[in-house]
Amino acid sequence: LLSPQGEVAPTIFAEMSAFAARTGAINLGQGFPDEDGPFEVLEAAREAIAHGANQYPPGRGIPDLLAAISEHQQRFYGLTVDPDREVIVTAGATEALTATLLALLDSPDDEVVVFEPYYDSYAAAVALAGAKLRTVRLRAPDFQPDLDELAAAVSDRTRIILVNNPHNPTGTVFAQEVLSEVVRLADRHDATIVTDEVYEHLSFHQPHTPIATLPGAAARTLTISSAGKTFSVTGWKIGWVHGPAELITAVLTVKQYLTYANGSAFQPAIAVGLRLPDSYFADAAAAVLRKHELLGSALRSAGFEVHAPQGGYFTVADATALGGSDAAEFCRELPERAGVVAIPITAFVTPEHRANYAGLVRFAACKRVDVLEEAARRLSALS
Ligand code: PMP
Ligand code: GLN
Repeated sequence: LLSPQGEVAPTIFAEMSAFAARTGAINLGQGFPDEDGPFEVLEAAREAIAHGANQYPPGRGIPDLLAAISEHQQRFYGLTVDPDREVIVTAGATEALTATLLALLDSPDDEVVVFEPYYDSYAAAVALAGAKLRTVRLRAPDFQPDLDELAAAVSDRTRIILVNNPHNPTGTVFAQEVLSEVVRLADRHDATIVTDEVYEHLSFHQPHTPIATLPGAAARTLTISSAGKTFSVTGWKIGWVHGPAELITAVLTVKQYLTYANGSAFQPAIAVGLRLPDSYFADAAAAVLRKHELLGSALRSAGFEVHAPQGGYFTVADATALGGSDAAEFCRELPERAGVVAIPITAFVTPEHRANYAGLVRFAACKRVDVLEEAARRLSALS
């Protein structure tokens, strides 16, 4: 995790946001919205501060938020979660993931199976836990895994199958048979399923299916999510993880020595958010889908081959026809050529697999419409 000079290597997101700031380019790299979330949620945080919610909250999370997460899982998915024993609040999904991997992995022979490309912190957290990462390739255009390749990657050494659905960076929503195969393989090899569902409310064309709702899955699944994406408050870092009580106890044991507790004034505000009416969640997804459509048509006119996403914040496009067969090089030049920053998919793969993803670029669509329109004007200069 260090740079060749022995310094902390910035994440790809920090590097690309700094690149955008330095060049004055539009930042379609790091995935964060440039508009505030719902007024009720922001107001609830201000009120919580005014009313003294400023000291350590309980390590598990405040009871009101634990109850709100439980109610949310029941309301949207029919999942029953005991707020006292089966859920904890974390410092974003990132801490939930890291604490979970540190809690469940204990030998250098333990393996974690992930779909590649994968969100950057997965490989880092597996490395921190001293375990091994095994990847299953997702291929353009639909980025669904080959089920035989998935089965071949899972063995008795597999401690965790780590799923991210909807998927960052590809925008894929996994087919039902992929999720069922994950459950079948986890059961056969006695592995735990860890599922990162931070984009659960951004599945554009079908209702989101938490893997924990599949038959036989709940008893071996830890479900992770975050308020950052759902309420456009990525800086608040309020996430959570729920699942069987003994697994949650193991994760809490790690979490209490990572951060102990976090976000005292944000927790009650997220409880308010999770109880907003269904229309809030539907409208937010429809707005992000419209942004993807705007961005997608701009990219197509500029000469990219676009892989329209089914969920999440990102559109993936192939830059080969624009001379971008090396997307890393293409992205280094893009601020100067077009005044836009984007991230090569190779940033989300193990170094030996980079050639599989050479021409692919990830663009964040979670930006204001006027920002996307300006990006569209700039990108048209490429064609
Ligand atoms: N998982 C995925 C797939 C993400 O895209 C992100 C970042 N948005 C995270 C986890 C981290 O979430 P948080 O900011 O809540 O830590
Ligand atoms: N999840 C965001 C992305 O994929 C970035 C989060 C971060 O900067 N760590 O762009």
